[in-house]
Amino acid sequence: MESTRVFPSTTEPKRIKRQGYSAEPLIDLVEAEDKLMKIPKSAKSREIIKSAILDNDFMKNLDITQIREIVDCMYPVKYAAKSLIIKEGDVGSIVYVMEEGRVEVSREGKYLSTLSGAKVLGELAILYNCQRTATITAISECKLWAIERQCFQTIMMRTGLIRQAEYTDFLKSVPIFKNLQEDTLIKISDILEETHYQEGDYIVRQGARGDTFFIISKGQVRVTIKLPNTQEEKFIRTLTKGDFFGEKALQGDDLRTANIICDSPDGVTCLVIDRETFNQLISNLDEIKHRYDDEGTLERRKINEEFREVNLTDLRVIATLGVGGFGRVELVQINGDGNRSFALKQMKKAQIVETRQQQHIMSEKEIMGEANCQFIVKLFKTFKDKKYLYMLMESCLGGELWTILRDKGNFDDSTTRFYTACVVEAFDYLHSRNIIYRDLKPENLLLDEKGYVKLVDFGFAKKLQSGRKTWTFCGTPEYVAPEVILNRGHDISADYWSLGVLMFELLTGTPPFTGSDPMRTYNIILKGIDAIEFPRNITSNARNLIKKLCRDNPAERLGYQRGGISEIQKHKWFDGFYWWGLQNRTLEPPIKPTVKSVTDTTNFDDYPPDPEGPPPDDITGWDKDF
Ligand code: AMP
Repeated sequence: MESTRVFPSTTEPKRIKRQGYSAEPLIDLVEAEDKLMKIPKSAKSREIIKSAILDNDFMKNLDITQIREIVDCMYPVKYAAKSLIIKEGDVGSIVYVMEEGRVEVSREGKYLSTLSGAKVLGELAILYNCQRTATITAISECKLWAIERQCFQTIMMRTGLIRQAEYTDFLKSVPIFKNLQEDTLIKISDILEETHYQEGDYIVRQGARGDTFFIISKGQVRVTIKLPNTQEEKFIRTLTKGDFFGEKALQGDDLRTANIICDSPDGVTCLVIDRETFNQLISNLDEIKHRYDDEGTLERRKINEEFREVNLTDLRVIATLGVGGFGRVELVQINGDGNRSFALKQMKKAQIVETRQQQHIMSEKEIMGEANCQFIVKLFKTFKDKKYLYMLMESCLGGELWTILRDKGNFDDSTTRFYTACVVEAFDYLHSRNIIYRDLKPENLLLDEKGYVKLVDFGFAKKLQSGRKTWTFCGTPEYVAPEVILNRGHDISADYWSLGVLMFELLTGTPPFTGSDPMRTYNIILKGIDAIEFPRNITSNARNLIKKLCRDNPAERLGYQRGGISEIQKHKWFDGFYWWGLQNRTLEPPIKPTVKSVTDTTNFDDYPPDPEGPPPDDITGWDKDF
């Protein structure tokens, strides 16, 4: 399951197609919480675990409250000297912290390093079921603490949701927010910023102009008013957790009428939002609502209707187009209809169940089967038998953008612009319906015979409830956004991050965040786009757009701001781009593939037959709605 591309510096870069990863979706949160057990441990052990976590490049980025809960839930395990703790190649779901002992790390039989004392071991397993990338053997007796991924994910999701619920509750008590809908409140609570004050700090000063609104989330403040003609301040009242001040600032320029002074020895934490941010959000929400009508869905149903009578036995396989995570994609024709061809995606049921991707597959079917957008591959019909699920889709015979990029090395500015624009159109369609895609990469972009690009593989796509986030890790290492890695909950803004990554990869041939293994890649992603050097062939306008898409804070990404995705279309890098021509397909694509007939597969690589042979039967019936 090696997924990353490795670029040795001395030899020709070897391009390997990258695989997406996904954690199994969390089971019911309430049920999961019941399984969270706090394990008593000494203050010394707690300190050691915490210091190991804070010393780990990945785990140190978690919130301190989350780290505390992880420490609470870790359970003890002992390994005798010479025993195997982690074996390379095994599938792992446990992360360890070593309290005492010494271990040896090796890969492919070669010694890598010796570790001792407070260390995190095997942390990639915290994100998803992964193959261990190294072997760890105890040199001396080792005392370790362990946590299962499910437990970790429950903690991450719960702390996120608790915070969201607490913030929305605060907001509900503010009169000007009272009539707002729940999903709007959630959005506002997402962009509240925590600020801290020391005892005695003036948070607001009487007579000053202000545009910020505050809610107290910790500590207390003193409200005072300066008496006329004196220096004296009269105490008015105390405000505590849940109280707010400065709300008029959100409606218009506010001349502060009192002083607000931090009055807690441990300081005060406020959640703040300023007028500009608030107004941007509200107008953005108004704009997004009812932007689309769903006549398109009806039209799609009519298209699908045409295939109602088609059966698996009516299909004839011409050649293999590609190999995906669960099986092959074949070029097929319907018997007696030589004018058209289709792509038939075959997925092994047993493998779907094994990797617990059932929900994802159902949502793939639903989203692709309904989407009516020329930048998204259409799914016409699905079939199933004892071994496989099948999806009959429109065929795109221009091949993968990945293959073209591999052969050309990189694209110039205007070629990149065209392909990026196709993705922007697809995202516009999906995001206006609150669907997140989550697996953007050149491997998932197919060219049709004209050279226009379409999104394919909706295995990680998901329809979100308005204002809600989702928590399951999904994506391909180089393309995942930091909030996905940190399990903070993510939404459509994660797609804008990956759009920035795509632009960079198309322009240079290599994605900006690349490590020699997924964990290294994640740690580079967490350092942010500003730590990345941009090669000179990236123009300043392109760099500017990439940086605006790849903001660490999801709420700050272009596309997620006021004006939505049109802000991307209006960016300088797209100046002069003929969007209308793209939409009505009159714009000339930069690369015109050669497609001689509806069965011409020369734009695809060759694939040997599946070495594993047919999978076992699965007749458990989980797929009855597929
Ligand atoms: P998937 O499992 O959906 O990622 O598909 C695996 C590979 O099969 C893709 O990367 C493409 O090369 C090929 N493929 C999938 N769908 C189509 C399609 N509709 N037309 C042409 N090739 C496709």
